[in-house]
Amino acid sequence: MATVHEAGDQADEVSVWEDDPGAPPSTRTPVLRARPALRTGPLAIDVEGAVPSDAEGAVRYWTAAEALGRTVTLYAPLFPMETFPDGATWNPAVGDTLVANLDAGVDLNAYYDRRGLSFFRQHVSGVTVWSGESPDIVSHETGHAVLDALCAWMWDAASAEIAAFHESFGDISAVLSGLRLASLREQVMGETGGELSRSSRLSRLAEQLGWAVRQVAPSSADPDCLRNASNELFYLNPVSLPPTAPASQLSSGPHSFSRVFTGAFLRSLAGMVHTLAGEGTVDDEALRIAGEDAATLLVTAVTRTAAVPAYYAQVAAHLIRVDQEKFAGKYTPALQAAFIRHGILSPGSAEAVADGTAGPDEKALERHIAPDVSGSRSAFTSPVAVPGRQYGLPDDLTVRAPIEEPRFAVAAAAPSRGDLAPTGGEDIALAFVEDLFRQGRVAVPPEYRRGFTASGGLDGTLRTHEVANNGVGLVLVRRVFD
Ligand SMILES: [Zn+2]
Repeated sequence: MATVHEAGDQADEVSVWEDDPGAPPSTRTPVLRARPALRTGPLAIDVEGAVPSDAEGAVRYWTAAEALGRTVTLYAPLFPMETFPDGATWNPAVGDTLVANLDAGVDLNAYYDRRGLSFFRQHVSGVTVWSGESPDIVSHETGHAVLDALCAWMWDAASAEIAAFHESFGDISAVLSGLRLASLREQVMGETGGELSRSSRLSRLAEQLGWAVRQVAPSSADPDCLRNASNELFYLNPVSLPPTAPASQLSSGPHSFSRVFTGAFLRSLAGMVHTLAGEGTVDDEALRIAGEDAATLLVTAVTRTAAVPAYYAQVAAHLIRVDQEKFAGKYTPALQAAFIRHGILSPGSAEAVADGTAGPDEKALERHIAPDVSGSRSAFTSPVAVPGRQYGLPDDLTVRAPIEEPRFAVAAAAPSRGDLAPTGGEDIALAFVEDLFRQGRVAVPPEYRRGFTASGGLDGTLRTHEVANNGVGLVLVRRVFD
């Protein structure tokens, strides 16, 4: 007879963490939540293996399953009908069900690789940290899978800003999925007084993993979590930034640069809560509805945004436009204020989107929505050759550059005043490739090496990309989003 945990197969409720187990020594305790549905419905999910028979293992299992379920049920109804007439589906490479492996090895990390989700464990300062035990991390990785289902072209886009947006979508997924829990909303209300832009349990993402990372690399995580969505980071052109930096500074690394967009999004959410509360005091209902409406804005905006160089500014412009379509513009002041505050839109651009003088360019809109021949949307990026010799490769390397026509005539803020001059899509692609080699993120198989290779050492850095041969020549292919 199979050994089954006491919360067993028939139990309606399971014991799970709400957002994160917390940094040690944590005083948090698991809560009871409805048992999530596995292998059913649109964006079906599952956890590899049977439910462990020990209580701690069962909490880990159900925490991951519940966080997966909570994230996909937020997004599945929002997939656009014109692209998904039969309802939401994963990227075809994933199959019908997204499966999470909670014990993929020893590391302080997690990733999505178009097959499923992988989570790791590591023993640090007397504590075994399982990345799949944190709903923040599970929602983040699920966010990568959801965005890959919505916009597959982003996978191979050679752009620091687009890669960073993928990371931001993951962190935003953790925030929005946290807001779906009444118990967490109550705590956040208590902690922030309804001012959601303040640092709180909702904004502090992955506290336990952040603690573990600080034990081994003190400057690689925020002081109170892995990344805090409550921040004051101001947009800078990522091609002007170093490829790596301590957490206290901004780099063009995707996790670091993601914080600019996440910060603006949390601040938008805070403003949306105030919009809903009006003159009255902020209540639980305002938090809940703001979270749902923010998800609607985000999914609609991102599916309409083309593969353009200044990507953040275009997503922000689409968010404002979608608000005018779906919510009669009631959140527009909140969105404008947040995106101006973080420099993602210049003040003039934020104004021009709201009053309609920045577009949209309807021709660009039609071109993007029409399905391309392959149906993969990779047509929205274009091939660019990168000289390979400097990276120890025998040939040029072809990458996919973001050079679509932007739909809105908007720009990010220049540090002094006015609009930031945009960088061309080809230069963005070249800078992205150089960043990857400098960060040690590229795996180069021995057959493509000319002696020295700049692909990094043996320090265990996860290789997010690899050099491959597509039959025509060398190409750069993404392996994972971590
Ligand atoms: Zn990620």
